[in-house]
Amino acid sequence: MQRYLSFNQAMKEKFGKKVYKLCLDAGMTCPNRDGTLGKRGCIFCDGGSGAFSVQRQESLDKQIALAKQRVKQKLTADTSFIAYFQSYTNTYASIEHLQKIFFPIISRNDICAISIATRPDCLPDEVLSLLSRLNAIKPVFVELGLQTIHDQTAHYIRRAYPLCVFDTAVKQLKDLGISTVVHMILGLPGETRQMICRTAQYIAASGADGIKLQLLHVLRGTDLASDYMAGKFSVLEMEQYIHLLEDCIRILPPHMVIHRLTGDGQKSKLIAPLWSTNKKKVLNQIHLFFEKDNIIQGQWFIL
Ligand code: SF4
Repeated sequence: MQRYLSFNQAMKEKFGKKVYKLCLDAGMTCPNRDGTLGKRGCIFCDGGSGAFSVQRQESLDKQIALAKQRVKQKLTADTSFIAYFQSYTNTYASIEHLQKIFFPIISRNDICAISIATRPDCLPDEVLSLLSRLNAIKPVFVELGLQTIHDQTAHYIRRAYPLCVFDTAVKQLKDLGISTVVHMILGLPGETRQMICRTAQYIAASGADGIKLQLLHVLRGTDLASDYMAGKFSVLEMEQYIHLLEDCIRILPPHMVIHRLTGDGQKSKLIAPLWSTNKKKVLNQIHLFFEKDNIIQGQWFIL
C-alpha cells in the first residue's frame, strides 16, 4: 500500500523512468555568509561539505561525469538525471553568470530537469524570468530553505528573512508554473510538537509542490554544535523523530511530493544524533512505523 507520495514514484510518473539526482556545485556563495545579511550563516550550516569543496574545482561537465560514475551500478540504458544545484544559494549571482551555468546544463540530452536550491529572498524579477525560460525547456524545481514558520526559531537559527518573503516567493514561482520544494527541519531547539505541526500545516497550505523533511543535524564547527555541547538543547531520539514525521505526513496534502524523509548529513562532521548515520536502518524503521500506525499522507489535511 502506498502510504506517501515518494520522490521516486513522483519522478517515475512524471518522466516514465527512473531518475537520479546528480549533486553539483556551481561555486556559489550565500548572502547569509558573505556579509550581506550575515557572516556566520544559519546556525546549523557548515558552509558546504568537504565533498563539495573538492567538487568546486571541477567543471560542471566533469562533476556530472563523476556523479554518474558513483551511481553507475544502478543505471539502466534509459536512466535520466536531474542536475541538482544543492550547495549554498544557487540564484545568488549575476544573471549573466546564472545563464552561463544553467542553460548548457539544461540543454544536455542526459539531463531531464534541474533542481535549484536557494533562499526565497534571492529571487529577484530577472532571476524569476530566467527560471521561467529554463522551465520552458525542461522542468525546473526550486528548493526553498524555510525550516520553520516560527519567528523565534527563525531568529535563533539566523535564517535572516521573514516568513512573508517565503510566501511571496512561493506565489511568484507558482504563478510561473515552477515546481517549488520546501525544506523543513524537525527537532529545532525550543520547538514543540505543536509548533512543528503548525509549520507542516503552513507548508501544506502554501501551494508548494514538494517538501524535504529533515532531521536536525548537529555538525562539527557550527554554532549549533557549540550550543549543543553547552547543553542548551537536546536532539531527537529516533522514535521521537518518526512520530513527528508521522504527524507531518498526515498533515501534508496527498499530492505533495515527499522528496526526503530524513537527512543526508556528512557522517564525518556529525556530532548528533548519531543514530541517523545508518540511513538504511532509519528508513526501514520509518516504513515499519508507518505500517504499524497506519499512516497515510493527507489523513489530517484540511483545505
Ligand atoms: S541560507 Fe543555506 S547556505 Fe546560506 S547560511 Fe543558511 S543554510 Fe547555509
